[in-house]
Amino acid sequence: MRSQVQAPNNGRLRFQIMMVVVLLVSLLVGRMPAQAADNEGDPAVQEAFGQLQAGKRLKSERNYVTPEQPTVYLTFDDGPSKLTNQVLDILDKEDVKATFFVLGEQAKAHPAELKRIVNDGHAIGNHTYNHVYKELYGDFQTFWNQIQRSEDVISNIVGIRPQLVRAPGGTATNFDANYYYLMEQAGYIVHDWNVDSGDSKRANVPVNEIWQTVKASPLDHEINILFHDGTGHESSVQVLPQVISYYKKLGYAFATLTEQVKPKQFTITKPKWSRNMSLKHFQELVEQTQQYAVAHPSSTELAKKEEKLLAQKLEAEAEEKAKAKKEEEAEAARLLAKQAALPLQVHVLGGNTFTIEPSIYKLHANQIELPLRYLIEKMGGKVEWQADTKTANAHYGIYDMDYDLVNRSISLYTLGRQTATYSLADMNLQDDQIIVPLRKTIVSLGGRITNAVIDPDYREVSMALRPLHFFKENNSILKNSLFAMGG
Ligand SMILES: [Zn+2]
Repeated sequence: MRSQVQAPNNGRLRFQIMMVVVLLVSLLVGRMPAQAADNEGDPAVQEAFGQLQAGKRLKSERNYVTPEQPTVYLTFDDGPSKLTNQVLDILDKEDVKATFFVLGEQAKAHPAELKRIVNDGHAIGNHTYNHVYKELYGDFQTFWNQIQRSEDVISNIVGIRPQLVRAPGGTATNFDANYYYLMEQAGYIVHDWNVDSGDSKRANVPVNEIWQTVKASPLDHEINILFHDGTGHESSVQVLPQVISYYKKLGYAFATLTEQVKPKQFTITKPKWSRNMSLKHFQELVEQTQQYAVAHPSSTELAKKEEKLLAQKLEAEAEEKAKAKKEEEAEAARLLAKQAALPLQVHVLGGNTFTIEPSIYKLHANQIELPLRYLIEKMGGKVEWQADTKTANAHYGIYDMDYDLVNRSISLYTLGRQTATYSLADMNLQDDQIIVPLRKTIVSLGGRITNAVIDPDYREVSMALRPLHFFKENNSILKNSLFAMGG
């Protein structure tokens, strides 16, 4: 039987080894054949490819926030350069924030300026590595490689991976639907502009020309204005204070671009570059960009993740606290129950010792309360309850006590003669029983509590009763009797 079972196992083992070998080989080659096969068969990717080839934008859903106040987003491209510090000085003086779309190449050459941009509270965007159009727009793969290369440079200097991207020269005639789509798959937001300062129309555009261009531009609710802080843009620096002042007077606020700002994007026009994209290459790029997005979450996503983690942590802590509190309460209840269940040991000095069961007495506000009848009978007497007058008579030998519930007093009689009256304010009627506090009852009757132990696990009361002067015949019993107090 055993060999019959083993035979197919060996076959399965051989198959498993084979699969491991195939897996290892495919990993070494760098691509899983199974995955490629999956993607080729993915109709959604094929469908997207078809639409993009036809020039259709496929935008992914994002939520943007429109600011209440009209807002200007100053943007500076092609830096950082030696001019960047002058721009930063002006922004600092004017107390406005801006966005710098930096080149990886320039960031590498001017790390101090890049750091200051971040330290001053401005935003950083990615403007590719070297700005060379024919490389960037020859094929998406090169554009994408430059974005990553630039991002690595920025990340190494300031620890930020910008999610904002600006295409050198803008997207018009440069981007096609594939570029937009794949950049989105990689998690980026591409920003063009809606106001061009015209500062890069040609070399050394005069200050006044830039100023006239800005003034003639439409005043949208959100203005994303293009400037340059690369080498040779001294005019842009010079015109900047009056541009800021102009928008301030018009009631505009200034802000950095963020992932919440809806990007200005040009509509797709026929690219001036001839490019060919095969379905296979497109599929590879979709996979690459999507994997990159997962491996490099945006700061917002990271913040969300951290927020979620923090919320989970707080929730766990609250739960822990609630649990601890519950346990504490349960422990307190257990202790209380245990204490409530403790019998009370009573010692009468020079007399007997007895136990009052926990069901009989009650510990209330740190005093022992118990039914009068029980107490009297325990001491060897007898109690009769007069419901009509709400009085109780306790008898023992020649002694009588009248408990008057209405007046809350005790009258003591010896041989039928009233010898004393005591007030017992705490006397009470519960479940047809007169409940009295032990200490007060004893004290009122001329006795005293000599010792009381009320511990979590033990209760004991010692009392001395008033000595008996009469009734010598039954001295030993009466000594221990509450009714021996009238003497
Ligand atoms: Zn540029």
